Amino acid sequence: MSAYTKKQPRVVVVGSCSMDLVVTSSRRPGAGETVLGESFKTVPGGKGANQAVAAARLGADVSMIGRVGDDSLGQTILDNLKQNGVCTDNVEPVTHCESGTAHIILAEGDNSIIVVEAANRHVTPEYVEQARAVIEQADIVLIQQEIPAETVLLVSRICKQSGVPLLLNPAPARPVEAEVIDNSAYLTPNEHEASLLFDGAELGESLRKYPNRLIVTEGSRGARYFDGQEEAVVPSYPVEAVDTTGAGDTFNAAFAVALAEGKSIADSLRFANRAASLSVTRFGAQGGMPKRAEVEEALA
Ligand code: ADP
Repeated sequence: MSAYTKKQPRVVVVGSCSMDLVVTSSRRPGAGETVLGESFKTVPGGKGANQAVAAARLGADVSMIGRVGDDSLGQTILDNLKQNGVCTDNVEPVTHCESGTAHIILAEGDNSIIVVEAANRHVTPEYVEQARAVIEQADIVLIQQEIPAETVLLVSRICKQSGVPLLLNPAPARPVEAEVIDNSAYLTPNEHEASLLFDGAELGESLRKYPNRLIVTEGSRGARYFDGQEEAVVPSYPVEAVDTTGAGDTFNAAFAVALAEGKSIADSLRFANRAASLSVTRFGAQGGMPKRAEVEEALA
């Protein structure tokens, strides 16, 4: 039976919505200097919105809880979520506030980024409390760290109390409260985030402490976890990588969708690796995210 014939899993994403403002230039300006750039584009981003879009493309019924500014970028961010089939009933504009932005300069073969959180700072515990019922009815909740830490704590408590599994993608890297770790059904740091999360502890040790809960993504190598008996690496798929931006976002969304459909951890990781490996073969975070049929075809 194809997963399509089953009930759609309800995925709730609590997180950031932003716009990436991307300039390419042959040279990066020094202090006080002006240079002529080559191109400019705006690309919807933010880890929360990226994961919501990825989960919707993979066939889930997705509700986003987040905030945008009351500016034109906010409208574009909302339109993009809707076009991708994400429910935006709980993505409310903040009055007199700008939308979150990432100012990206691609120059000299490297990028420099300034992130302005703006409306994402308004994803407060009080705001999320209003959407408690949406969280309580989810099959799985996905959260990241581009919103206030107090909000992550509150969501973890709601999930714990209501028995809804919480998948915490602890990105970008910052310490996480012990209670949040305890309340999370799954934690998915990359290698850098894992060492920060567990204070530089030896990885094998951390994995053993959280069997079937801690999943460490290792780029092209795939994902590592401890299944209760031994450390296992579920390998990713060899692809011609073009742009790895958003690989982690696709991975997390796909892992959440598969888990919510009742797949085992190992099968969910295979699905997540397949989806994420397809995403790196195309440009852009959201631009590369595959649809369900494409992932299933590639896995067949
Ligand atoms: P992040 O993007 O958050 O730093 P990773 O680099 O660990 O996280 O990548 C997340 C997942 O994306 C990996 O576990 C893997 O499934 C997939 N992935 C990333 N880079 C590649 C690659 N070059 N080839 C195949 N899969 C990749």
